[in-house]
Amino acid sequence: MNIVLFGPPGAGKGTQSALLSKHYNLHHVSTGDLLRNAMKANTSLGIEAKKFVDKGALVPDSVVTGLIKEELQKGIGVGMLLDGFPRNPSQAQALDELLNAEGKNVDQAIFLEVDKSELLNRLTGRRVCSSCGATYHVKLKPTKTEGRCDLCGEKVVQRPDDQESVISNRLEVYDQSTSPLKEYFSKQGKFVAVKGSGDPKDVFRAICSAVDSR
Ligand code: ADP
Ligand code: ADP
Ligand code: ZN
Repeated sequence: MNIVLFGPPGAGKGTQSALLSKHYNLHHVSTGDLLRNAMKANTSLGIEAKKFVDKGALVPDSVVTGLIKEELQKGIGVGMLLDGFPRNPSQAQALDELLNAEGKNVDQAIFLEVDKSELLNRLTGRRVCSSCGATYHVKLKPTKTEGRCDLCGEKVVQRPDDQESVISNRLEVYDQSTSPLKEYFSKQGKFVAVKGSGDPKDVFRAICSAVDSR
């Protein structure tokens, strides 16, 4: 089973992906995490990507598609949960081609629906662990010890692209580039919208019920 999880920045893709990949035993592929790892390691791809990520722009398709190929190979046998990829119709087409070449396809595309005011609140308050990448929120999901990750004890920080000046650009890029995926997946009969507000556990249950009844 290959599931795409998409939605605006802050919709809860990362939070839900962690739960879903465990529950369904799927290989979790997050292009955001892959790009942040490449940037942290200062690889040539990471240095190139940083120019776009820091501005809140999409990294060029050729870079992302190259990055994802290896990950797709790891997930092809077990099935995948795709988080943050595809992010525009041309990436969706590239994904279809890569999967079809292996005799597979996307089974369902789940869209997490969250109001803009809530997205802003979530993104401005998001904090991430500088070491393991675990996600927190200053008010909605605080760490047990201030400024330290519950899981590994390292420092939690704000992502550079979660600054207010960059967030507005990311939301605009989402409207322009990612939102057309609704139509792309609807045409294929794979689109399901799930309410992404409320308790994360309830959101998780709603996604599971969509997946289980597909
Ligand atoms: P995305 O990967 O879509 O950008 P995240 O999973 O990182 O989203 O969530 C964005 C922020 O919102 C994080 O700080 C997270 O703790 C918080 N968050 C996620 N889901 C919920 C929810 N259902 N209710 C409240 N806050 C949430
Ligand atoms: P969020 O869902 O909160 O926006 P992500 O971690 O998914 O965060 O993405 C962070 C940034 O990484 C994006 O703003 C973009 O610059 C880049 N990125 C992630 N996935 C892709 C993708 N599939 N195509 C192009 N750029 C991407
Ligand atoms: Zn940590």
